[in-house]
Amino acid sequence: MRAEFLVVGSGLSGATIARMLADAGRDVLVLERRPHVGGNVHDHVHPSGIRVHTYGPHYFRTNDADLWTFVNRFSRFHPFEAVVKSQVEGGLENWPIAASYIRREIGTEWEPGFRGKPANFEEASLALMPRVIYEAFVKGYTEKQWGCAATALSATLARRFDVREDDEPRLMRHKYQGIPHEGYAHFMENLLDGIPLLKDVDYLQDREAFRAGRCVVFTGPIDEYFGFDLGRLGYRGQRREHQYLPDVDWAQPCGQVNNPGLASGAHIRTLEWKYMMPLEEAARLRGTVLTREFPFTPENPGEFEYPFPDAANAMLYEAYRQRAEAIPQLLVCGRLGEYRYYDMDQAIARAMLHGKRLMKGLGGGYGPNVGV
Ligand SMILES: Cc1cc2nc3c(=O)[nH]c(=O)nc-3n(C[C@H](O)[C@H](O)[C@H](O)COP(=O)(O)OP(=O)(O)OC[C@H]3O[C@@H](n4cnc5c(N)ncnc54)[C@H](O)[C@@H]3O)c2cc1C
Repeated sequence: MRAEFLVVGSGLSGATIARMLADAGRDVLVLERRPHVGGNVHDHVHPSGIRVHTYGPHYFRTNDADLWTFVNRFSRFHPFEAVVKSQVEGGLENWPIAASYIRREIGTEWEPGFRGKPANFEEASLALMPRVIYEAFVKGYTEKQWGCAATALSATLARRFDVREDDEPRLMRHKYQGIPHEGYAHFMENLLDGIPLLKDVDYLQDREAFRAGRCVVFTGPIDEYFGFDLGRLGYRGQRREHQYLPDVDWAQPCGQVNNPGLASGAHIRTLEWKYMMPLEEAARLRGTVLTREFPFTPENPGEFEYPFPDAANAMLYEAYRQRAEAIPQLLVCGRLGEYRYYDMDQAIARAMLHGKRLMKGLGGGYGPNVGV
């Protein structure tokens, strides 16, 4: 089969690029190896009627009004601002950590556990808080999440959280926050509406069957594209254990409870999905579904979730990136292609940048996979 643009992967990155090209009247074919579209934002409905985010909880947020308008073109969003609690000794406390909690536990004169230029994640976290707080909230969660010592991880990972001066419980403070009213699966189907698409097709198993006149946009794992021949990039995934409680309507005080304790089980968090549904709809449903997430190191590329944040993997990725860049008419992108954790709004924004570049290249042809 032949198309001007072959987009491999129907996640947010591939679907956004395909949408832009299709809207511009270009000939696009999307290939997806899973039986459903949408990549990791996909969701499904449990027999109880409760909607479950199949690959882990997805809270949409952005500060970009244009991006918010773009996503609202494909679905209504119901308001949802995630609230997260951490199970620490003494009960459930706000996450991110509130400075008021530190003052309550340690006193007003508390000192951070590290001063100077942090060389790793542990030092970067200790620069924000006293050691005892770090050990209660952060260390165990992180070491379970990544399966290694917090000192082995990049300092930049600590940029994903802070210590709050106020007691505001919202996880994020972005201007626009919500969840697609009829679910992410419906949202993704609308994003791809009218674009030729084949599911259950693994491009890497049958490359010769598909030809792109202008460009292959590959949004799968970059190391898998090259048959892992320079070595495997590190990833973490999550095994998910679901439990339906028919006689409990609400089990937790919020949608996500973190489990940072090493002694309290190998799971890192428990999700209660009803909180992520429109509340009036959730209130009509009987029982509740809880999901516990257990981190592991996947071999199967379909289970790759988080790129491993350390220097060795960054170097290996760079070697693959340079190889991909040298191949004409190939663009490797998205969270698996660029080996970078992107929130959904970042993945869409990045895909839009790639889409604009692809369209700029029209006429002259799209050449090497230049980093954007
Ligand atoms: C556990 C978890 C929780 C998250 N929570 C949030 C959140 O709360 N808020 C937020 O903003 N972001 C969140 N994210 C990030 C969000 O999931 C990503 O931004 C988004 O999935 C990126 O989309 P993508 O298209 O780049 O990748 P993907 O969604 O992985 O899509 C890639 C697609 O390509 C397909 N594919 C791969 N190889 C091939 C092949 N050879 N042939 C055919 N198809 C192929 C895959 O099957 C997949 O469908 C979370 C991520 C994870 C892992």
